[in-house]
Amino acid sequence: MQTVTIVKADSYDAGSIRAALDALLAPLGGMAAYVRPGERVLLKPNLLSAKPPDRAVTTHPALVREVIRLVREAGGIPVVGDSPGVGGLRRVAEKSGILAVLEETGTELVEFTEPREVAGSGTFKRIALAAPYLEADRVINLPKLKTHEMMTVTCGVKNLFGAVVGTAKAAWHLKAGADRELFARMLVEIHQLRPPDLTIVDAITAMEGDGPGSGDPRQVGCLLAGVNALAVDVVAADIIGIPHKLRYVERAAERLGIPGTDRADIVVAGAPLDEVRVQGFRLPHISDVQFGLPSFLKNRLRQHLTSRPVAIPGKCRLCGICRDACPPGAITLKDGKLVIDYHSCIRCFCCRELCPDAALTVREGALLKCIRKCL
Ligand code: SF4
Ligand code: SF4
Repeated sequence: MQTVTIVKADSYDAGSIRAALDALLAPLGGMAAYVRPGERVLLKPNLLSAKPPDRAVTTHPALVREVIRLVREAGGIPVVGDSPGVGGLRRVAEKSGILAVLEETGTELVEFTEPREVAGSGTFKRIALAAPYLEADRVINLPKLKTHEMMTVTCGVKNLFGAVVGTAKAAWHLKAGADRELFARMLVEIHQLRPPDLTIVDAITAMEGDGPGSGDPRQVGCLLAGVNALAVDVVAADIIGIPHKLRYVERAAERLGIPGTDRADIVVAGAPLDEVRVQGFRLPHISDVQFGLPSFLKNRLRQHLTSRPVAIPGKCRLCGICRDACPPGAITLKDGKLVIDYHSCIRCFCCRELCPDAALTVREGALLKCIRKCL
């Protein structure tokens, strides 16, 4: 059985977080059950991009501070690391408020720059993950609960994509292409290579709408924790009401037969699920009707059946961040305009995820629009 704990928490005030964390971890045996004296404990928050905490893009610094405190109390040596989607780690940590916490608590910030190749666990034969992630004695996963334009939701398992070193992320997007199911499978396989020892989800203020970079903060008012990140993600998705067919990571784990997603095996402790469920949580705009289509049809009709990114006139300041991040190099800046080659675009939406000015919108394919109208 997998235990997932939920505790209601309304604010990031230090006292409230401290009490909430203690209550959250008590049914799981407390932090001492996961950290032994002298162990190097890597905390892996979501440090996607340089945004202040109130934008809900990154894990809140108040949660990181309290987890550092608990790790120290258990005798461990906490360090914090990630590989942001855009911008240097230090800059992202500074803007998110996490750098100030590290300075205040004397905690090391570890950059994921050195990759180490490990044998894959299935579809992907070799996967290079950050050496500090693989070498830490313990990993505590600290995701932010957010919507995600490709995976619908990002939580415990998706947060581990940060263990892929910087530019290699684009290569993985390219390998998995526009196939959400394949990308989800890759995420599950990364999780299996080095599952975190504990996952604690920041769902006090989550992100709804066009996450993970451009959505809107939404008060969900709870923290979740568990040993199995897949089980934690199932409960988190239940809280915000994600339909099963849009839970790509969960479905990939089910197909791979990896334990953690079967509700019959999940015990929810702490606050009852029904007391923390939120209604009307807005999902990303991105949608398509690729489900179940044979691949030859998917490829032929892709232009018309999928949504695609489009620059908003007057909003794009031609900074080039999306162009540099675009896995297949489908974006060019020409004659003062941003141009996207939709034949090579794989619909990964990294451009929207990373644009600091929310200057890209989504346009539905013509056929997709017709189908939606007829439904
Ligand atoms: S869309 Fe955004 S990231 Fe891309 S060039 Fe314009 S402002 Fe920069
Ligand atoms: S244009 Fe955007 S959605 Fe298309 S491949 Fe490039 S980053 Fe991905």
